[in-house]
Amino acid sequence: MSRIRPSHPYLETLEPYQPPDLEAAAERAGVEPDQLIRLVANENPYGPSPRVAEALAAFDDYHVHPDYGPLREAVARYDGVSPDQVVLSNGADEMIDLLIRLFVEPGEAIVISPPTFSMYRFSARVNRCRVLTVPRRDDLALDPAAIERRVAASGGEAARMLFVVSPGNPSGRAIPLEVTERLLQLPLMVVVDEAYVAFGGESALALLPDHENLVILRTFSKWAGMAGLRLGYALLAPRLVGYLERVRPPYNVSAAAMVAALATFDDLETVEANVVRLVEERERLEEVLGAISWLDPLPSQANFILCRVIERDTQRVVERLLDWGILVRDFSDPAMASYVRITVGRPEQNDALLEALRGMGAP
Ligand code: PMP
Repeated sequence: MSRIRPSHPYLETLEPYQPPDLEAAAERAGVEPDQLIRLVANENPYGPSPRVAEALAAFDDYHVHPDYGPLREAVARYDGVSPDQVVLSNGADEMIDLLIRLFVEPGEAIVISPPTFSMYRFSARVNRCRVLTVPRRDDLALDPAAIERRVAASGGEAARMLFVVSPGNPSGRAIPLEVTERLLQLPLMVVVDEAYVAFGGESALALLPDHENLVILRTFSKWAGMAGLRLGYALLAPRLVGYLERVRPPYNVSAAAMVAALATFDDLETVEANVVRLVEERERLEEVLGAISWLDPLPSQANFILCRVIERDTQRVVERLLDWGILVRDFSDPAMASYVRITVGRPEQNDALLEALRGMGAP
């Protein structure tokens, strides 16, 4: 038997991330995988601008390593910052890992408020960091006083980085700027994950000039419909960009992602019109889901809606939707057992969801 083992026995206790099993879902529903209605991963059903496919086909420098200068400049222009405040990554996921590796020592801690995006805990654990969790209020809003108490109780030493999401995943709630500003007084790095900010809420960008401990995390996965191409970035103080660039693999972003992002900036009109469509659909869905007696949708600023399932078995609801070929997100966290998160799809996908839900009748 092989004696090869990970560097630390602790690494053997980690669980791999489980993406939705599309083949099993398609088999259950008796459809092809590409016929599934995927309202499960907050992807943009409209995909990227049509210019992206054209630019990818026309690009003829795939044989050389990419030069990120023009993309950094384009991102900086788009966000109204300077290029020396931008660090690109292979999806926002990679940036979460880079930030933890740069600012948090093994044994030190990150702070999160569950329910939240899973990759903060994932990357902290991979990097042998601890995870301090702070409960939210009953309405799933962040509780800044509780975060302050938890950080103070950690001695102010071990807690190095706080991750918050605005608009929140899965809550859909945006964090008011004054709350972010308050959190920035804490003696740690504050990462504000703005993966969904194109769909609502106020960006923390205005706080960047005065707060060196602020990192804003962004991705092309949602608003630009590029989840499969993998492009994220961080906006932060130029001095800290210098550190981050020391740990970023030099060619972490593919030429394809780079070309696609530049093509997106050349066709913002199309992509922004799709964002508007999704926001309109979100508002429609919120209203019609709210009219179903056994569902309680939370107001959302993102491209998904968190719904509480009342007096009905959530798992059963998810399974019956699967029978229709519709995938929504449920949660393994027992505190979230009565919730489903529904990504806003195209109008006809949302109609199919509504028909399936209404077909389940009253509990
Ligand atoms: N942050 C949040 C809050 C997310 O929901 C997601 C995507 N699920 C990401 C980051 C990851 O984005 P990317 O696809 O760029 O890795």
